[in-house]
Amino acid sequence: MDKLKIAIQKSGRLYDDSIKLLKDCSIEVNIGIDKLKTTALNFPLEILFLRDDDIPQYLEDGVADIGIVGKNVLLEKRKKIKIKETLGFGKCRLAIAIPKSLVYKEINDLNGKRIATSYPFLVREFFEKKYIKAEIHEISGAVEIAPGIGLADCICDLVSSGSTLFMNGLKEVETILQSEAVLASNLHLREEQNIIMKKLLFRIRSVKKAKNHKYILLNVSNEHLEKIISHLPGIKSPVILPLANSKCSSVHSVVNENDFWGIIENLKALGAQDILVLPIEKIIL
Ligand code: ATP
Ligand code: MG
Repeated sequence: MDKLKIAIQKSGRLYDDSIKLLKDCSIEVNIGIDKLKTTALNFPLEILFLRDDDIPQYLEDGVADIGIVGKNVLLEKRKKIKIKETLGFGKCRLAIAIPKSLVYKEINDLNGKRIATSYPFLVREFFEKKYIKAEIHEISGAVEIAPGIGLADCICDLVSSGSTLFMNGLKEVETILQSEAVLASNLHLREEQNIIMKKLLFRIRSVKKAKNHKYILLNVSNEHLEKIISHLPGIKSPVILPLANSKCSSVHSVVNENDFWGIIENLKALGAQDILVLPIEKIIL
């Protein structure tokens, strides 16, 4: 039977979440000691472990069929590949930072500056859009030390908490890209490979949806039932079950994580009691 080859980062920030995603999709993977490639035990998937920078090229060449990589790397490399799904982990931003002591009022303050980055294409594109003329120095790692050693005036690098910038006496002044991990694919998958990819995508979307939702159960006295129902979304509509105590009902519903606390506060104010909140493993619509 045909297999789909998926490239994931060999080690680094995307590794754990990539493996966890496969696991959440019920795909069992035994990782050998050499960690070059392995085959899933219960899904037609071969897993290749690679450096994240190499994944877009391998996808374009068809060495791998699909891959998990940061949007930042994917957009910088400009390969002919396709984003199939955003994955909700590896979140960070590509940002410009300057020494804390410098005054920064507006983007024109970057004119004539030397900027160190591992993302020369994205930085050039950003500066061209903003009509800024700056000197771009491409370096492959430890970008944050460049101003301190006199290599550049400012940097453009990935930031998540901002603590690395802070420790190096830098402050963030412009964001050029919001990034997260994505599932990307080669443009020319064979028919059978497309079928496997669709199955995988279906599982990923079910897992993603479940992560963004909570299952809630609550008890309410029947006199408040109607008001409570009008405040609950549910996938179609809430489930109402009678309790042994005939004056009360149990209400079940699914709510979006983003609206969650607001909804709970409203429900409590409207007379909901004994509210239970449960995680959902998968949502299949
Ligand atoms: P490799 O050895 O595979 O080349 P790397 O050192 O280039 O690894 P990592 O630092 O592991 O890469 O980052 C991988 C990806 O994780 C980044 O491209 C980015 O999409 C994401 N990421 C999330 N938060 C951060 C962050 N604070 N700094 C860097 N990358 C981050
Ligand atoms: Mg890398």
